[in-house]
Amino acid sequence: MSDAEALDAADPLAHFRERFALPEGVIYLDGNSLGALPKASVARLAETVSDEWGRGLITSWNAARWVEAPQRIGDKIARLIGAGAGEVIACDSTSVNLFKLLTAALSLNPGRGTILSERGNFPTDVYMMQGIETLTRGAVRAKLVEPENIEAALDDDVAVLLLTQVHYKTGRMHDVAAITARAHAGGALVIWDLSHSAGAVPVDLAAAKADFAVGCGYKYLNGGPGAPAWLYVAKRHQDRVRPALSGWFGHARPFDFTDEYEPAAGIARFLCGTPPVLGLTALECGVDMMIEADMAALRAKSLALGELFATRMAPLCEQYGFALASPADPAVRGSQISYTHRDAYAIMQALIARGVIGDFRAPDILRFGLTPLYLRFADVDRAVTILAEMMASRDWDRPEHRIRAAVT
Ligand SMILES: *Cc1c(COP(=O)(O)O)cnc(C)c1O
Repeated sequence: MSDAEALDAADPLAHFRERFALPEGVIYLDGNSLGALPKASVARLAETVSDEWGRGLITSWNAARWVEAPQRIGDKIARLIGAGAGEVIACDSTSVNLFKLLTAALSLNPGRGTILSERGNFPTDVYMMQGIETLTRGAVRAKLVEPENIEAALDDDVAVLLLTQVHYKTGRMHDVAAITARAHAGGALVIWDLSHSAGAVPVDLAAAKADFAVGCGYKYLNGGPGAPAWLYVAKRHQDRVRPALSGWFGHARPFDFTDEYEPAAGIARFLCGTPPVLGLTALECGVDMMIEADMAALRAKSLALGELFATRMAPLCEQYGFALASPADPAVRGSQISYTHRDAYAIMQALIARGVIGDFRAPDILRFGLTPLYLRFADVDRAVTILAEMMASRDWDRPEHRIRAAVT
């Protein structure tokens, strides 16, 4: 048995793989961007469409419990991130949820006018900050500092610190509890973007005394393309926020149809419009499977997959000029591993053409997502073997691999 085969034979999570509909001949290293399709989602979506929608029509809002889905799924996601029941709700996109939480945090910290984040944070996070600066005609300022200067920048004008725990390009992981404590000591609230954390690394929001968090449904939670996102608001803050996106689904009594906005009690006030039922249905299937998995086993496998990948890549770094773009210390790395290369784009396109799907992140990063529920050690081993063969033959160096598509 090879090392990889031995690791697969001893893998306590191996049984999850057959519950995904994975195409033959593909090694999928992009589950951090779009998770794979759970087989359960296929049947469940068909049932929701033909029975609940087709036959039940509008009665399904009550009879099929469509109306409870955002809270119900939120409570399940809460278990993955150390939050309590009634602190998480599945809704909208991560971008929209960032707007809701940024405006909520600002309203809870009056007298302060800065939103602080780090340079190189995921673009939408920064763009939403800048949008609020425009909306408030500069009364609120969006400020970016280098990651090593975050602490020093926590002055008495910072109302809210917005950070992503696991960096989307490098996988570098922040210490949620330590940074939250420092921000609180300086009087700032914190919003954690957990898009690359939920279902990927252990998170304990309660222990960290976190204020707010957001995350995607379509990455490690396997909720499907464009799946609804989620947001977390600590219980102690919920009823003090008057939501800026004060839509009717967040009203105390939406079906009273009154002229006056009155926010619902608790997390429900962070809903805005009618929930996207089909998207929520697929998301719930992904989340249901994720909560079956033991998080400690998930992290252990993720680390072992990363170690195998890095070990196999080391000779290629020497020979072909790849350089590790992720932290060398696995303890501060999320569930992905990245390398830089001058020809990263063409190399990734060539890899994809050979059935090894990772992704390219500008300007020069090859990014590989490690999803312990459906990735085998043998897959990682084979992926690096294919890359090594391709580098040796220079098979990647063709004009068709240099054509840029809209989505990389
Ligand atoms: C993927 C990702 C997003 C995506 O936001 P959408 O609104 O779903 O497009 C936001 N933030 C981070 C950190 C991400 O990794």
